[in-house]
Amino acid sequence: MAEDKKKVGPLDSAVMTAEGLTFKGIIMTPVVENCTGCERITLVEGLSYCPTYAEPSKKWTRGICNFATHVKGTLDKQGKTKVNPLKASKRAARGR
Ligand code: SF4
Repeated sequence: MAEDKKKVGPLDSAVMTAEGLTFKGIIMTPVVENCTGCERITLVEGLSYCPTYAEPSKKWTRGICNFATHVKGTLDKQGKTKVNPLKASKRAARGR
């Protein structure tokens, strides 16, 4: 006998209201341009939302979103990759 197992999406219980998409009492805002390519993006009624953060734009104000699946590492204000100085000195001491 085959069981009917329906896969539950992360925002399946979200409800579209006049204020916007509401999930567990929080109003969700659509993803921003920086999120393009992230595997966490979930489509709800034709719009893209992040099930991890209600306001994706705030996750990009201080650098790269730490839960982004399409971008790795951290960038400084000039857009250069940040290197942990302690790790860099250990690496240099080992000759790598
Ligand atoms: S995890 Fe970060 S990058 Fe991915 S959709 Fe959410 S806010 Fe955007």
